[in-house]
Amino acid sequence: MILDCAIIGGGPAGLTAGLYTTRGGLENVTMFERGMPGGQITQSSEIENYPGVTGEITGMELMIPWPAQCQKFGLKHDMVEVTRVTKEDNIFKIYKADDTISEAYSVIIGTGSSPRRAGFVGEDQYFGRGVSTCATCDGFFYKGKEVAVVGGGDTALEEALYLAKICKKVYLIHRRDSFRASPNTVARVKRTENIELILNAIPQEVYGDNMGVNGLKVTMQDGEIRDIVVPGVFTFVGNNVNNQTLIQEDGSFLCNMTKSGEVIVDISMKTSIAGLFATGDMRIAAPKQVVSAAGDGAVAALQAIAYVDELLNA
Ligand code: FAD
Ligand code: NAP
Repeated sequence: MILDCAIIGGGPAGLTAGLYTTRGGLENVTMFERGMPGGQITQSSEIENYPGVTGEITGMELMIPWPAQCQKFGLKHDMVEVTRVTKEDNIFKIYKADDTISEAYSVIIGTGSSPRRAGFVGEDQYFGRGVSTCATCDGFFYKGKEVAVVGGGDTALEEALYLAKICKKVYLIHRRDSFRASPNTVARVKRTENIELILNAIPQEVYGDNMGVNGLKVTMQDGEIRDIVVPGVFTFVGNNVNNQTLIQEDGSFLCNMTKSGEVIVDISMKTSIAGLFATGDMRIAAPKQVVSAAGDGAVAALQAIAYVDELLNA
């Protein structure tokens, strides 16, 4: 059977695309998601800017009802990693890690992004043994202890605030003296007594032993090396776009991309390939918000419905 639409990625963009394609009349729609649906927001300890959702809510709590809402309208979920998407004669082929191939008339891709590594010595060696990119997942291990957070964007500051509630002290290490995060979040961090700002500081090396991390050495602006003795280091230094599924056998991309690897789309989420739509954090100029990823999913779904209708009834 050829799917009307294959959705790749089950974050806010993919799930919303699933809701709108199925509810809008496409009958055979499958969402391919390599893990549990919900996307990267499920790692967030708090979300306070999703419209209509007031009060303290975690990213996981926000996303829990989304898959069931889509399934009610017929969306199918295949828990598998997609390895490649190709197109030939109006049919997309979706290659999967279980060595099977699905076919579809249209594809909506929303594979989001993944945490970047900061690049200091020992980061890879101690990843998962004291170095983490998820405060909600690993923060509890450091209850009552001191931790370091690296980064100066919204994620670093929000997660520093989260960790400050669990940990005795948080050292927030940033390579500049001004933050990328929103002013409101910066103000909250500055008001938090157990967060110490270490600015103009470049992380050099995380060190430890068989038991895990013992500390982080940072170079200060004047060249002094400061030793921050902590058992946990959380890095939040941005994300890389997950665009690997669009890479073809010859190394080229299926559709037009920016130099930094984002998918180029128009305001209808159309890519340079007919029937292929890109949504959420992976597309050019993405605001990188749950609400905009969801909006992209809805826009792409409406376009996919029209595209499939025209293709099959032309
Ligand atoms: P993602 O959420 O990244 O989802 C992509 C999905 O695709 C993932 O589930 C992934 O497993 C899947 N996938 C990837 N590759 C494959 C593959 N090859 N095969 C199958 N599946 C695949 N935004 C806000 O609006 N407010 C906030 O407060 C906020 N806080 C945040 C806090 C943190 C810690 C982080 C990391 C992000 C935060 N964001 C916030 C940003 C928000 O999470 C993202 O903008 C949003 O999740 C993007 O949605 P998406 O659907 O594009 O991608
Ligand atoms: P980001 O905005 O790209 O910030 C990354 C931070 O890490 C920057 O401060 C950067 O420093 C620093 N950095 C980068 N590489 C580094 C390295 N090698 N060593 C040390 N520091 C390094 O990433 P993000 O905070 O994950 O946010 C991503 C997007 O999601 C943003 O658009 C953000 O607004 C959004 N988001 C929104 C919310 C919200 O709305 N509440 C919450 C989380 C995320 P410089 O500043 O010097 O470049």
